[in-house]
Amino acid sequence: MLVFVVNCGSSSLKYQLIDSESEKVIAKGLCERIGIDGRLTHKPTGKDEVVKEVAMPDHKAAVSFVLEALSDTECGVIKDLSEIDAVGHRIVHGGEKFAKSVVITDEVMKAIEECNDLAPLHNPANLIGITACQALMPNIPMVAVFDTAFHQTMPREAYLYGVPFEYYEQYKVRKYGFHGTSHSFVSKRLLNIIGKENEESKVIICHLGNGSSITAVKNGESVDTSMGFTPLDGLLMGTRSGSIDPAVVQFLAAKLDCSLDDVLTILNKKSGVEGISGVSSDFRDLEKASNEGNKRATIALDMFAYRCAQFIGSYVAVMNGVDAIAFTAGIGENNISMRKKICEYLGYLGICIDDNKNNVRGEEACISTEDSNVSVYVIPTNEELAIARETVALI
Ligand code: ADP
Repeated sequence: MLVFVVNCGSSSLKYQLIDSESEKVIAKGLCERIGIDGRLTHKPTGKDEVVKEVAMPDHKAAVSFVLEALSDTECGVIKDLSEIDAVGHRIVHGGEKFAKSVVITDEVMKAIEECNDLAPLHNPANLIGITACQALMPNIPMVAVFDTAFHQTMPREAYLYGVPFEYYEQYKVRKYGFHGTSHSFVSKRLLNIIGKENEESKVIICHLGNGSSITAVKNGESVDTSMGFTPLDGLLMGTRSGSIDPAVVQFLAAKLDCSLDDVLTILNKKSGVEGISGVSSDFRDLEKASNEGNKRATIALDMFAYRCAQFIGSYVAVMNGVDAIAFTAGIGENNISMRKKICEYLGYLGICIDDNKNNVRGEEACISTEDSNVSVYVIPTNEELAIARETVALI
């Protein structure tokens, strides 16, 4: 089956066409600057990348250019659109309504819309992407895969905040967690590697990228995760502050004479390792600066590792142990020294990293020593493939 996987942002649209039997990517690409001017970057597997500057006044126009590119005589990979069997859409927020992926119907669209409040920057764009695809591929089944769904198994004591209970009941203020598709994909693979798919298990998944989160997975289910009501919570990230005393928000608004919205923008876009270092949000730049003696870059890296160790430790505590830990996403898969730095905190668990085995980037590997009490792995994530698998399973 050919599955078209769509990840629609407010001004961008990422896509992959995946053959579900071979699990190979047939083509992938990106539309940028939708509603501004428009650029399509299309990469058919085995052929040259094509970049086209084309007017994309809206998402429907963007999807239309993508479909044209996919069936183009030169850069195309299919003869016509009827070869596409299904579409899988990445949806950021499913609230408490969606604990699993679902086939998209009018009721599902309505329920996703009802979650717009919880993800005002993302869900409306996701819905626009669905509508655009439905208009151009009216008879093709579509599936919604939610970033929050995997975490719906968290117990109440993990997801509730210590605020008056009515705010949870009335406004659904609670921890939701994100990166669920990745945490689900990587935890399944980890359980498969350690041979504990059908037994009791306790694993911790560290998805460390531009946005980062860590999840405790017990018996295959998420029982806690570091992101919260929004993806701002938890670890220190590229430009996001992560967990912070909420009183700082009001204090800074007063000091800076700005609105609460402005402070939240600072916490989302100007904080994290970029705000601390003053260098960059990219860990490659930070490592280079730190190696050249930049103190603030070193502090940012130290803080990042410290927070990761804090969350890992707290998840070992709530699960009363851990069988294995996996690192994934840009930093988790590629940053050798950061993995080592985080694991240096974990000696109390009997974790020991083998420097030779840890010398890997972007490929699956066990990086702990033979006698390490807890095994540690690098497992590349693949959210698009996970969405394609969910889509096939549902239709
Ligand atoms: P996003 O959350 O945007 O998907 P990624 O998962 O791509 O982010 O992670 C981006 C981070 O991964 C950056 O900080 C970058 O420095 C780091 N990274 C990516 N590739 C490498 C690499 N080859 N070596 C070291 N760090 C890398």
